Amino acid sequence: MIALEEAQAKVNRDLAVLPPADIPVSEALGMVLAETVAADEAIPPFANTAMDGFAVRAADTAGASKESPIALPVVATIAAGSVAPRPLAAGEAMRIMTGAPVPEGADAIIMVELTKPAGFDVDIMAEVPAGNHIRPAGDDIAKGAEILHPGTILGPGHLGVLASLGRMAVRVYRRPRVGVMSTGDELVEGPEPLQPGQIRDSNRVTLLSLAKEAGFEPVDLGLIRDDEKAIERALRTGVATCDAVITSGGVSMGDFDYVKAVLTRLGEFSWMQVAIKPAKPLVFGLLDETPVFGLPGNPVSSMVSFELFARPGLRRMMGRLDAERPRIQAIADEPMKRHRDGKTHFSRVFVTEDESGRRRARLSGGQGSHQLMAMATANGLAILPNGEGVDAGDTVEVIYFE
Ligand code: AMP
Ligand code: MG
Repeated sequence: MIALEEAQAKVNRDLAVLPPADIPVSEALGMVLAETVAADEAIPPFANTAMDGFAVRAADTAGASKESPIALPVVATIAAGSVAPRPLAAGEAMRIMTGAPVPEGADAIIMVELTKPAGFDVDIMAEVPAGNHIRPAGDDIAKGAEILHPGTILGPGHLGVLASLGRMAVRVYRRPRVGVMSTGDELVEGPEPLQPGQIRDSNRVTLLSLAKEAGFEPVDLGLIRDDEKAIERALRTGVATCDAVITSGGVSMGDFDYVKAVLTRLGEFSWMQVAIKPAKPLVFGLLDETPVFGLPGNPVSSMVSFELFARPGLRRMMGRLDAERPRIQAIADEPMKRHRDGKTHFSRVFVTEDESGRRRARLSGGQGSHQLMAMATANGLAILPNGEGVDAGDTVEVIYFE
């Protein structure tokens, strides 16, 4: 058996960040920026009003109050998206809506709540200082400013900033296309009654969904028989069309575990017995320069193996510096016992927060590697190092699925 860290290092050694590409801003959510973005326009592009109200000269409001309002003639109305027909002169007011450009000659906005209509005039009921409620040009982003840097994970707000600058495309590290196939003669798809010995393929939809959730582009490579030729064909198609391929099943010690056999014959592959439970066997290497992860078939094992090897490695390929899941400390709410077997155990747990803000972990169900329900309801994996496990009240470290 080899240590988890050693297996992870072996995987990461073979993975390189994908080359940057220009992609539409509308598709860039969660991707990592590969350029420095400078603003070639000021945002906002012109001085505008933050309030619905009246554009005035601040000096014309001097001494105004509710008790002794100052009446100013309303000489124009400026909607957002339009401009004033002429400059504002001393002693005048213009009705103005939020976002509309402040007319030349005006230096303050008085909000509508501090005014009252008076025929063709408006009664100004408060004194306002120069600059009142005016958002100057460049108040958000100055023209020429370097605003976004390589390595930034693009969130919805970043995409809005790019859109406000008129950018249609952005240079990012590509999302890996991740092909997923299931292998096994016992597997069937769909609702038909099961024949003796058959089960339904659950790994494929799970792994495709994990890939999607992690920010990759999932590609379904189908359900493949335990047949060397069929496996080889599917792998060749996979590596020709994807940036990485994930298989499940066929990497253990069984007589029909052909994935391991085919991969080690076709390329530089390591078959590892990792000192972890679940998910001990792992085949990893490059086929035609494309990484292939041969994950074990048991449903929980394939998910845990994805979490420990594929997810962090593939996130690094898309340039994400936050490749790893966060690890948190939690109080074990019940004993999590195990026996000494030289492996690190990953127990499926559900973490909650108690009234005093402490995190508490409970086992989410049966801990067999076939018991997918406990994984489905878990929000973390408690790390139990080689030893006897923990008692209720002890602290455990948890890989947290947020
Ligand atoms: P294997 O790694 O191929 O020996 O499979 C180990 C266990 O996982 C067996 O009980 C398989 O039936 C089961 N298994 C393998 N692949 C899948 C799959 N895609 N969906 C559900 N169970 C699977
Ligand atoms: Mg199998």
